[in-house]
Amino acid sequence: MLIKTFKPNDWVGQRIKPEQIHKYMPMARDFVPQAEISAKLSDSKEPGLKEVKDILAKSLAIQTLTVDETATLLKVKASQAWELMQETALKVKKKVYDNRIVTFAPLYLGNHCVNDCLYCGFRSSNGEAKRQVLTSDQIQSETKVLAGTIGHKRLITVYGEHPLNDINYICDSIRTIYQVKEKTKKGFAQIRRVNVNAAPLSIEELRLLKAAGIGTYQVFQETYHKTTYKQVHPPQTIKGNYFWRLYSMHRAFEAGIDDVGLGVLFGLYDWRFEVMGLVAHNRELETVFGVGAHTISFPRLEPAENVPFTSNSKYKVSDEDFKKIITVIRLAVPHTGMIITCRETPQIKRDSIALGITQTDASTKIGIGSYSDREFGQDGLKQQFILADTRSLDEMIREFAHIGVITSFCTAGYRCGRTGGCIMDLLKTGAEGKFCKLNAVLTFREWLDDFASPETKQAAEKVIEQEISEIKKILPKTFPQFNEYYQRIKNGERDLYF
Ligand code: SAM
Ligand code: SF4
Repeated sequence: MLIKTFKPNDWVGQRIKPEQIHKYMPMARDFVPQAEISAKLSDSKEPGLKEVKDILAKSLAIQTLTVDETATLLKVKASQAWELMQETALKVKKKVYDNRIVTFAPLYLGNHCVNDCLYCGFRSSNGEAKRQVLTSDQIQSETKVLAGTIGHKRLITVYGEHPLNDINYICDSIRTIYQVKEKTKKGFAQIRRVNVNAAPLSIEELRLLKAAGIGTYQVFQETYHKTTYKQVHPPQTIKGNYFWRLYSMHRAFEAGIDDVGLGVLFGLYDWRFEVMGLVAHNRELETVFGVGAHTISFPRLEPAENVPFTSNSKYKVSDEDFKKIITVIRLAVPHTGMIITCRETPQIKRDSIALGITQTDASTKIGIGSYSDREFGQDGLKQQFILADTRSLDEMIREFAHIGVITSFCTAGYRCGRTGGCIMDLLKTGAEGKFCKLNAVLTFREWLDDFASPETKQAAEKVIEQEISEIKKILPKTFPQFNEYYQRIKNGERDLYF
């Protein structure tokens, strides 16, 4: 892969394609109506228990809530209704995702950035940041550690917005990652799903991303509140264009990418407004494309070196409110994957998993090149922000096993074409859950035999035994084929799935 040189200003001027915003805005309709949302939230009258129960019944039936119903849940304060909401959130999660959790690792590939977001360590005016773009060899070294030493099967690649990290670089990096294959104790290891967190792209660029084999395409709106958006993203930057970002997922669907990830950077504005924005965005995608977000992410503003804004924001979200966010979103979009990251402490992660979270990262390093470069491993000036959970994947899996949670490394869905609307329908009806249950055990077996420490293996065997006996009971017809795959994996075969 060739690292090129560009004049960022020539490049910046050509990034935004106004026609690829306006085509989705018939009559200039804005699907996150600011005044309306604020008005709904300003009426603080608490809902009665009966009204709350009726809404929760809809969540339990795995139906997406409306923006109005979400607003009602956001107004709940009384302890009885609030406790009921938490209990229902966990029931909804169990119904759709059972006791599974999916793990992944972020891989930061380049931190040059032409934008100047007030909250980010990579912002262009941060003269202290150490900038780097990984070469093809360095990407291979990082992937070897992630896939071959730690045992990850899923990555989310992260890029600043810069000509050095343009679409060709992004696609080349995905292909490079997929090519790495490492021998393990009993078999071989590879990254099987590369999700991407990158700046908004044009439809033509998104088609290239699809062809390169992307899993989920994530773009976080950061804040749905337009006035705040303008304050934290200087207007002369690409990111200063609210609508170019808001319609990035419409362009993704049009380009054939139907697993899309939404998110908000909680701590920039009132979290209740942001929850309404997320739900409105999700409903817009459901209305226009027939399928909503594949995942929703919950980054909370974290301190970053040389970024004073991160310590001064008046909208910082408390731990209690963070749990409310997770509960309400779980209830509002019952079948959507929900991601928590190592920005959060182990305790917050534990509590959030009990409220609806389905995915988390582990063994995370967010310095550029820091998985393979031990010397600079945790250099704050190469990082976007500072992590709160630095546990290894092995430690995290052991903790999950102790509480009866199985870690799934399954990536079968999108490799069998079960993506977008198809996977969402399967999740809503519970059918995908059956594939997931089988694939969770098969992939967990692979990971345990290739990577687990003796203590983790010991804790995990109990979970696997329990899962196998459930499969035998609830899927008797599939069991013989499952058992054949399971034995073959124990003998060193890899990547067998339903
Ligand atoms: N440059 C691309 C963009 O802005 O969309 C993608 C990469 S950016 C590094 C990924 C995400 O990191 C952002 O969307 C933002 O939500 C999050 N982020 C930035 N600064 C942060 C901070 N100080 N604390 C927590 N998350 C932060
Ligand atoms: Fe650049 Fe993204 Fe950071 Fe903004 S959040 S400065 S666009 S890397």
